[in-house]
Amino acid sequence: MSESYDLIVVGAGPAGSAAAYTAIESGISVLLLEEHPQIGIPLTCAEGLSRSTIKGYLDVEPEWISTELSGSMVRGPDGDEFKIEYPNVGWIMNRKVFDPALTKKAISNGALVETSSRAIGIEDNEVIVENSGERRRYGFKFLIAADGIASNVGSWMGIDTNLNLNEIESCAEYVIEDIEIDPRYAQLIFGDEYAPGGYAWILPKSCNSANIGLGVSLLKTKKHPKHFLDNLVKKEFPEGKIKERIFGCVPVKILKKFSGENFYLVGDAARFTDPLSGAGIANAVKSGVIAGRNAVLRLKGKEDHFEVEIKNEILKEITFHHKVRNVYLRLTDHDYRKIFRIGKRIFEGNTIDNINSRRLVREILLSSHHLFGLGFSLLF
Ligand SMILES: Cc1cc2nc3c(=O)[nH]c(=O)nc-3n(C[C@H](O)[C@H](O)[C@H](O)COP(=O)(O)OP(=O)(O)OC[C@H]3O[C@@H](n4cnc5c(N)ncnc54)[C@H](O)[C@@H]3O)c2cc1C
Repeated sequence: MSESYDLIVVGAGPAGSAAAYTAIESGISVLLLEEHPQIGIPLTCAEGLSRSTIKGYLDVEPEWISTELSGSMVRGPDGDEFKIEYPNVGWIMNRKVFDPALTKKAISNGALVETSSRAIGIEDNEVIVENSGERRRYGFKFLIAADGIASNVGSWMGIDTNLNLNEIESCAEYVIEDIEIDPRYAQLIFGDEYAPGGYAWILPKSCNSANIGLGVSLLKTKKHPKHFLDNLVKKEFPEGKIKERIFGCVPVKILKKFSGENFYLVGDAARFTDPLSGAGIANAVKSGVIAGRNAVLRLKGKEDHFEVEIKNEILKEITFHHKVRNVYLRLTDHDYRKIFRIGKRIFEGNTIDNINSRRLVREILLSSHHLFGLGFSLLF
């Protein structure tokens, strides 16, 4: 007889830990499996988290934060810049502290967490796990797949989680130290020279360190993102010391189905990353909390609201951003320059307290015949 749990969660990133600490509060038995020996390591993330996206789902603790941002500097293809003053916009997190803290929340509520345990298959409501060369089987009544971009668990459960070339942003990032940087402002850089089909970010971790990276669309370039990142770093921070090199992908896909009779997919496994910004931490936590709550309803034989809540809280926004990305991928540097000028007119010299992406897109499209033509379907 294998050990059995009411709920098994695969993957102890923000999505999996949030699902586990939410579900365990109702007293069911929860096993959280993580393939790596340490939670939060290795990390593939620039660690930016906007306050508005996580509001109502998590109170961010000061010790999880590296820096608190007051806005951003936006740079266009010609090197021209403008500043967005946006006090309280959010934080650059320290995920090597943040991720384990979320897992600890699950443990202190009574969840069992097993590290160095990789799920390698699912058979007859059992997860097959490999740990130090040994195979074990754990039974479950309900399963939450929080295994990140790989999303193997989802495909074992019959969900098509495959990603085509146009459904990923390919990213490279260096953690750089020994530089001088204003820790209050994120820097965002647009243009095909810097990051074709994506953007570059300089996210300050302190006044002398930053996560510097970029994402590119493989539809717009065949070059590895490292090529563009090396150019940026050589130009901007020639003296900086590279402490970590990170390569990874952001999924950009809307799944038709992300739940089944006895399972849910959450976070990157469900492709809940924002198609424009690439941000996925907030949606990972949100979907984890929603999944944890609804899994308990299912286990108690009650009707659940997982799909509806996910549609309202996550999918509405990312579906719109998905459409905007399809337009974004067709833009040229000439278009970026136009958009840059419109952005500068809207934001420069003003202090803002939120950005409504629908209103912003509408304003940009209505400012130019050419952009209006490209983005007509977004408005109507
Ligand atoms: C370069 C880059 C920069 C990014 N920057 C940002 C940013 O600034 N802000 C932001 O919000 N988002 C960012 N993201 C996205 C963000 O990192 C993810 O959206 C977020 O980590 C998703 O959380 P998750 O819990 O779904 O998945 P993950 O954080 O990927 O966690 C999944 C966990 O599952 C484990 N796992 C996988 N397979 C198995 C298995 N078979 N068995 C057991 N365990 C398994 C993994 O080890 C991992 O711990 C970035 C992504 C990239 C690639």
